Amino acid sequence: MSVSSNAFLPYGRQALDEDDIAAVVAVLRGDFLTTGPTVTAFEEALCKKAGAKYCVVVCNGTAALHAAYFAAEVGEGDQVVVPAITFLATANAARYLNAEPWFVDVDPDTALMDLDSLRVALGRNPKLIVPVHMTGAPLDMAPIRAMADEVGAMVVEDAAHALGASYEGVPVGACEHSDMVIFSFHPVKHVTTGEGGAVLTNDEGLYRRLLAFRNHGMVKNPAALEKPSPGPWYYEQQTLGYNYRITDIQCALGISQLQKLDGFIARRRALAARYDELLEPVSAIQPVTVEAPMSKSAYHLYSVLIDFSAVGCSRAECMERLREYGIGTQVHYIPVPSQPYYAKRGWADIAFPGANSYYERTLSLPMFPTMSLQDLERVVEGLREVLGC
Ligand SMILES: *Cc1c(COP(=O)(O)O)cnc(C)c1O
Repeated sequence: MSVSSNAFLPYGRQALDEDDIAAVVAVLRGDFLTTGPTVTAFEEALCKKAGAKYCVVVCNGTAALHAAYFAAEVGEGDQVVVPAITFLATANAARYLNAEPWFVDVDPDTALMDLDSLRVALGRNPKLIVPVHMTGAPLDMAPIRAMADEVGAMVVEDAAHALGASYEGVPVGACEHSDMVIFSFHPVKHVTTGEGGAVLTNDEGLYRRLLAFRNHGMVKNPAALEKPSPGPWYYEQQTLGYNYRITDIQCALGISQLQKLDGFIARRRALAARYDELLEPVSAIQPVTVEAPMSKSAYHLYSVLIDFSAVGCSRAECMERLREYGIGTQVHYIPVPSQPYYAKRGWADIAFPGANSYYERTLSLPMFPTMSLQDLERVVEGLREVLGC
């Protein structure tokens, strides 16, 4: 067994340099810790990078989903279509607005929303459809938009995995076939602000609703007031919003990180290519991401599919043994409708064969920009050793 016991390799982690730290310190020495110019500058940088007109940054990706669903006027009793395989937040944000997530099945080999299942879900007359670019592989959004248009639904892309991805040359975030796109800046995502998120849109009306939602529903723009303004102090609360603001301190980190996004993505793609190459001859391990022609994955995750019963090693045992070799792995994700909270809301007996097949087989291997090729070789060697293949 030649797996060396170097530093522990998590499945994902941030990549910070001294210049990121210096950018944060500069803001700490300045006048604004929150709601200052660095917040606006980060929003402008995101718009430029993703090719959308408007951006509202918020305190995390979950708040970004909540804000986007609110802006889409999701309310009590509405249906929000989400894939059965995603992070909890995609579904939970519907519940925050007293709406219901309507889970649809996914492709068993990619975990991307299955379009036949989506078509069936159109019968529910959903208010909103939320495709998730799982692992960073961009979905073909045009057919999803076309289906949404048939029933007058809005489309929000959950692109928490896909900052830096593109489809036919158009970056995810441009909202070419959607009303809004959300990103997360959690440390395992492509660029980090510690905690943070963003909503991008090309629609000024949605933008105004997002801005108000971030700040208690407050409106100051004179043109948008409902009552005559008695003076310069005046503001109106027209909707119920939250304090979902993000600080200038965090946004300084975001701007610094965003400048490195292209390099981070190039590195992730190079690592993925090497994984693909090393795993190609190993028939028991099947990489998840199959890029559509003209699309580029951002490789938030490098997930593989393994028939654990066929290799005679359970996933739990495999993960434990890899951990002993200093290799961290994770499972993305447990099908959300099977969670006790959603099972009790009526999803217990609904079958999701695609989601279940994916869930039974999936494992996410270490993938982050500061990982070396030797680290990667250590992962593949460890995995083959543990699985005996
Ligand atoms: C990370 C993530 C979120 C939520 O982001 P937070 O910043 O952690 O709140 C939402 N959806 C998906 C698919 C994610 O991976």
